[in-house]
Amino acid sequence: MEKRRVGIMGGTFDPVHVGHLILGERAYEQFQLENVLFMPSGNPPHKPDRRGRAALLERIEMVRLAIAGNPHFTLSLAEAHEEGYTYTRETLERLCAEHPDTEYYFIMGADSLFSFENWKNPERIAQLATLVVATRDHVNETELELTAERLEKLYGAKIRVLSTPNLDISSQMLREWIAEGKSARYYVPDAVLRYIHDTKLYQQGADGNV
Ligand code: ATP
Ligand code: MG
Repeated sequence: MEKRRVGIMGGTFDPVHVGHLILGERAYEQFQLENVLFMPSGNPPHKPDRRGRAALLERIEMVRLAIAGNPHFTLSLAEAHEEGYTYTRETLERLCAEHPDTEYYFIMGADSLFSFENWKNPERIAQLATLVVATRDHVNETELELTAERLEKLYGAKIRVLSTPNLDISSQMLREWIAEGKSARYYVPDAVLRYIHDTKLYQQGADGNV
């Protein structure tokens, strides 16, 4: 029997932006996914500095607001732990055990694929999910394909490239803009923009004195 196909869009979503949403939608379409799980991570090992950042509950709320109108996007709290680090392998291990009828597609930007070897247990992650990668920061196609080939050889990873144009947007850029009083309108959904405004998120920059 053919397995159900489900996408996973993991991230800190600090804040969630249209880049994340577009990636989810493109992957949904290109790989005929049944659903895309938006999975905010609690405490990412590679982002220890919390100054000028939103709390986990605020990031979850922003994701909830951002995906509200899309019937095939779902919020997943599988990685939303306050305590301890979250690791993709553990999350995938659990999901695959709970849903043996499902094939997972882990969606990411090129920057994440380039650092894939530094993730914990990359070889196991590669067995548990197909990696779907989108271009980012104008990396050229050849560079992306060479990296994909290398990881395929190294870990037997299944890597698929998402056909989507480069999207010049990052949460860091938006945090900086908001701290500087610049508008993030159209870069995040209106409901998220309103939430950021009402809760005064990111108005104090990362150095704490903007
Ligand atoms: P930050 O600037 O805080 O790192 P971010 O914009 O990179 O935030 P994350 O939550 O770190 O957002 O990213 C979650 C996933 O989405 C990662 O795999 C990242 O590569 C991917 N992603 C985010 N923005 C884009 C984009 N503009 N194009 C392609 N992939 C993206
Ligand atoms: Mg990032």
